[in-house]
Amino acid sequence: MIIKNSLDEVKKRESALKAINSIINKEGRNSLFDLTGLSGGFLAKQEDLNLLETYVGPAIFEEKLQELGIAHLSGEKVFPVNRTSSGILASILAIVKENSYVVHFLPEFPAHPSIPRSCKLIKGVNYLEFDNIEEFFIHDDTSLVVITGSTMDHKILDETEFKKIIDLAHLNDIPVLVDDASGARLRTAIYNQKKAIELGADLVVTSTDKLMLGPRGGLMSGKRELMDKIIDKAHQFGLEAQPPSVLAMVKGLEVYDENDLKNSILKKEELINIIKNSSDIFDELFEETPTGVMVSEESFKIAIDKNKINTNFSPKDICFLWSMILLKNEKIITIPAVSMPGASGTVRFDLAANDAKNLEIAILIEKINNSFNSLLKIVNNNSNRNSSSSSSNNNKNNEEIAKEKEIAKEILFS
Ligand SMILES: *Cc1c(COP(=O)(O)O)cnc(C)c1O
Repeated sequence: MIIKNSLDEVKKRESALKAINSIINKEGRNSLFDLTGLSGGFLAKQEDLNLLETYVGPAIFEEKLQELGIAHLSGEKVFPVNRTSSGILASILAIVKENSYVVHFLPEFPAHPSIPRSCKLIKGVNYLEFDNIEEFFIHDDTSLVVITGSTMDHKILDETEFKKIIDLAHLNDIPVLVDDASGARLRTAIYNQKKAIELGADLVVTSTDKLMLGPRGGLMSGKRELMDKIIDKAHQFGLEAQPPSVLAMVKGLEVYDENDLKNSILKKEELINIIKNSSDIFDELFEETPTGVMVSEESFKIAIDKNKINTNFSPKDICFLWSMILLKNEKIITIPAVSMPGASGTVRFDLAANDAKNLEIAILIEKINNSFNSLLKIVNNNSNRNSSSSSSNNNKNNEEIAKEKEIAKEILFS
């Protein structure tokens, strides 16, 4: 294990940002392909920025945001927050009672860490999570039901189950908060599902940089009475978005077009076809996502268990390492390289990302191949997998293994 704790993840992130900086300085922004799908954007023009310097500016953007935000999320009142996590925290602080239960339903584990972590801040709260509707139940003393519409890995909740959970919560007079970070666009544009509020949820929060050209931030909407309580809490703890972010949210919402998302699906299908017809290890590792492909820690674990990869590295290390090789050698940004501590290690190639428009699939495949071969060279102890000669001769010795570990550290942290 190389990545042992969140401090290591902070060091890794700093190294990634340094690499991004250097690539942009040397070769320009267009040489870099951000395929995270959360590249965000700041589409403000000079005249907007001039307004930002005055008192009237923020008032205008806030009002515009109400209009565009309600069109995007539905609901009675919207509120911009610093991050989706901030919206989740503010909601939990405002609604959840001491010694009560919070029940979370999601299509697949793991939950975003902000949900259990926020619950831990309230005295005596019991947090339960379910990903199987058969097992789901609402405990007597529940003060909030949370639903994740689309997970960090873009697993989508079935709409019938979505509705069932909401109805069950309301039968017990419990408010429902939907974490629709990516789902507010993914579920609606790609899966033709209804908005969370239209399905009956009381509150929803979405990430303004996921699958839209907005800033890193969160946008909340819902019932006015609950929103007012959340807004009050958010201001007490400084969780609200600041005027520059609000301006960028307005601009991002103005240009959002669900057809762009739909078009990315065609590109994805091209990529999937190539992967299916390439080496069997690729076919096993890669999974399809709604707008691209991904390789999870779990897939690497299975490949290791099946001895397709013989390694001393943990699946998490391998994900982070691959992501850093993709960045430093191939100039492709994927989430693990730049993520905050605790986020998923999944290496996802998101074709709905804005930069994917300028990247041909053939070139992407070449970049994936090259980086993956470099990765295997470092993590795979079986140094010559394709050789037909006796296997023991091909294994790395201890000295070689130690050397590869040093190389990995260099790629991750320097
Ligand atoms: C991205 C994401 C979050 C957190 O968003 P931040 O803006 O980083 O706080 C929360 N929940 C889910 C399901 C996400 O995908």
